[in-house]
Parts: sequence; structure tokens; C-alpha cells
Amino acid sequence: MHNLVIDLLLTNAKAYVKKEIVDCSIAVENGEILKVGKETQMPKADDKISLKNLLVLPGLIDVHVHLRDEGKAYKEDFYTGSSAAAAGGFTTVLDMPNNDPVTMSPETLRNRMRIAERKVLVNVGFYSEFPNKLEKIGDIVAEGAVGFKLFMADQVGGLNLNDDRALNDAFVKVGEEAVPVAVHAEDRDFIMSNARELKAAKRDDHAAFLRAHAEQAELKAVERVLKTSADTKARVHFCHVTTEEGLGRVVQAKESGRAVTCEVTPNHLLLSNVDFERIGSVLAMMPPLRSKTNADALWKGISEGSVDVLCSDHAPHTKDEKSTNSIWDAKVGVPGLETTLPLMLTMVKKNRLTLDALVRLLAEKPAEIFNIKGRGRLLQGMKADLVAIDLKKSYKIDASKFHSKAKYSPYNEWEVQGKPIKTLVSGHLVMDEQEIVAKPGSGGVIRGGAQ
Ligand SMILES: [Zn+2]
Repeated sequence: MHNLVIDLLLTNAKAYVKKEIVDCSIAVENGEILKVGKETQMPKADDKISLKNLLVLPGLIDVHVHLRDEGKAYKEDFYTGSSAAAAGGFTTVLDMPNNDPVTMSPETLRNRMRIAERKVLVNVGFYSEFPNKLEKIGDIVAEGAVGFKLFMADQVGGLNLNDDRALNDAFVKVGEEAVPVAVHAEDRDFIMSNARELKAAKRDDHAAFLRAHAEQAELKAVERVLKTSADTKARVHFCHVTTEEGLGRVVQAKESGRAVTCEVTPNHLLLSNVDFERIGSVLAMMPPLRSKTNADALWKGISEGSVDVLCSDHAPHTKDEKSTNSIWDAKVGVPGLETTLPLMLTMVKKNRLTLDALVRLLAEKPAEIFNIKGRGRLLQGMKADLVAIDLKKSYKIDASKFHSKAKYSPYNEWEVQGKPIKTLVSGHLVMDEQEIVAKPGSGGVIRGGAQ
């Protein structure tokens, strides 16, 4: 032990360890945190990085990201998407399956993992949509899916959304596995019948979009999912909850002992339907931006602990796909990997959020819910996934500098305080001063379930 020379020593850190900020050094060996303590007590290291009093948090985990690639590589690919993650302080992201091809079989999942392995800079896990045949669920989990996505707003996977019995069968089957079901809760029939009427009336403005996706669409879908999964062992994770009533139903379910969790996005906390009206189709997203009252309810959910996770819902598209004349043609979603942490650090600065809550929502709970082992906390024995932050740095968000292919943002020009300066993944420096310093493929694919 005395002659041990370790891989890396991080010195002069202010590290977030067990809800305290401690002045320390962090010893890294074989990609893991060997020791957290005084520099004088540390073994010799091959490499040393001074963190100059930067705040060091466990690497963040984003459970809702669309990395695209394959048939949608023109919007984003595994390299640009994972670069955006590293630049934003995220060391692990979970990729959504609504790609081309849709991830919904052991073969599509395996192929996606194979392509990702050569390109990614951070850890990436993959969701699968439900397969056409539910018997395949076990094979998909064995292949390493971190969870199943149930998109209730439109037909993406193999599950018949009109059939309550089929939904129940799917929840029963996933309940036998060690992975959750992530639900996009918006009712397809409700949206479609509203949209049909509005289109017939020649309406194609933002207000029509909001009416088609009215709050009841979320409530209906949340209630239906809670009902059809009630007698099953499935763990249900509600994606991007946006309404006071929707969150209220999730809280009721939690209080009744159901294995239910939920996430919110910065978009639904920091923007509203007023911004959508002002800015237009670029802010089109699903679920849409809601009233200020709903945003306040989500903030309340965060302070009361009923919201489990913050996620970016990073959904890159080209600028052309976002700037359409008719709102019905606009692609939904905005990029978010490079803005989420600075925005939330700014909220900490403004006392809307505690640092404890930020770490819980962006690292600890995501690791817990999705069973991501060895990550999500800064402790001895955990993977050395870390983000070093300059809390004092004030600057304006500049979307033209994004690593993502989607170089626009609802937050462009917003004044923020708190900047990710270095990101380490399994002990390797990936991002330094917003530059990518690691090679494509230096990240890795993580597998979910009981593996
Ligand atoms: Zn999404």
C-alpha cells in the first residue's frame, strides 16, 4: 500500500459530500473514488489537477434525453449530444427510444448500443419502447434497457394505446423486471379530437396548440396509467409533469403507497404560456408550456419533495424544423443539456432551490430510480463521475457556442450564475473550460435492470 501510485489526485476542491461542503482532495484509482480527505494524507499520483476552490458535485444524471443519431443524426448524434452533456455537467444520460428506427426490440437496442459505444463521451443508458409482443420484454431487459418508455400522446411503440387491457398486460410484464416504466402522460384521443376541430376551423396559432394539449390531456393520461397499473408491480415514473392537478394525482398515488415517481423540466418551471405566445413555434413542446400558476405548483412540489427528478428533456431539432408558419408543423422540444445546470445554479443563488435539492434531483434520485449503480453520489468507492463548478461566474447563455447541433435556446442571452468548468467521467477529464478534451468513445454504455 505504501508504494501505491494512484491514477489521479484532485486537489483544492470544495466537494459536496453527505450534504456538507468540505475542503478536500479526491484520490482517483481505476475510475473510482479511492479516498476523500486532506492532501497530506493522500498517496502519490501519476496525475494531479488543482480545482482551485471549485465546487465539486457528483456528476449529474439526466434521465430524459433524446440523443437522436441513426436516422435522425442530422439533428444530433451520440458525439455531439454527449459533448453537450459533458459541457453541461452531466456524466450519465438516459436516451429516449423515439428514434429512427424506434428502439423497441433486442436487435434495435443492441445496434444502438454498438453505435453509441464508439462515439459517446459520457455514460449512456437506453430506454426501449414497448415491443409488439410483450414476451420480448424480458429479452429487452436482458439486453440492458434501463427502462421502458410509454408515449401516451401518439403511437410510437408496439402497444395499442386504445386498449386498457393491453396497457395492464404491459405493466404486469414489466412489473416482473427490475426496471421502471417512464410515461409521457398526455391523452392521445383528447389531443387528436381537439386538434382535428381546430384545424378544421383553420386555426394554426400557438393558442390552438395549447387548446389541443389542454391540461386535461395530462390529467386524463395520469389517471389512466395509475388505474391500469394499479394491481401490478410496475414502478411508474411520470415524465415531465406540467400541471398542478397532474402532480396532485401523482402525490396522492405516492401517499397511498404506490411505487410512483415523477420529473419536471426547467422549461416548465422557468417559462410559461406567455413566453410561448411571445416567441412562438420555437417554444413548441409536449406537454406545452403552462400558466404561471402551474409553474408555481411545480416549484412547490420541489420544495415539498414530491418532485423526484429534474431532467432537461433535451430534444434537439434543426432551426428550420422549429420555425414553421403553422404551429402544427413545428417539431416539439428544445435542447437543454447545456442550460439545465447553469439555470438551476442560478435558482440556488436566488434561493428558489437549495443545493441539497439540486443534487438530490439531478444525481441521487435519478441513480436510485433507474438503478444506476456506483453513481449519483460523491463518496469513497463510487465511480469518479464529477463536475467542478465555478459558483461565482456570471455570464450570459450563448446558444451559438453549444456543443449540441441545436444551436438555439429559449434561454439564449439569459444572465446566469454558476458555470461547469470541468467534467470527469470514470476519473477521466472529458470537459475542461467548456472544451471537449476526451476522444469519442471514452464514455460508455450502462445497462439497467438487475445487472
Ligand atoms: Zn422527451
